[in-house]
Amino acid sequence: MDCMSVTREMLHQLIEKAQSEGARRIKRVVLEVGEMSGLDSNDLRNSFQVLSRDTPAEGAELAITAVPLKVRCLSCSTEYSASGFKMTCGECGSIASELISGNELRVREMEVT
Ligand SMILES: [Zn+2]
Repeated sequence: MDCMSVTREMLHQLIEKAQSEGARRIKRVVLEVGEMSGLDSNDLRNSFQVLSRDTPAEGAELAITAVPLKVRCLSCSTEYSASGFKMTCGECGSIASELISGNELRVREMEVT
């Protein structure tokens, strides 16, 4: 994912939501960023700072929570956290799995004034 365009899209939605609630400024945003999303929290902060200039989100505090990679084994349905590129089920040893979380960029909270 390209950080700038992802941030632009997110910012657009935040501002739209803030304005629909009659808010004048966005004070704080809490984001959940998956470890596998390819998005770096420093890049996100930088993009946010640049793109929020002259918008109601300018100067907003950005809190970023990392969401660990979690997968479900396709053989025995055990859910486990995969670290790095090691994805082997601890129960049955299968490497076939589907992603449950770790690929997202989600806004968890937004404080407005
Ligand atoms: Zn398994």
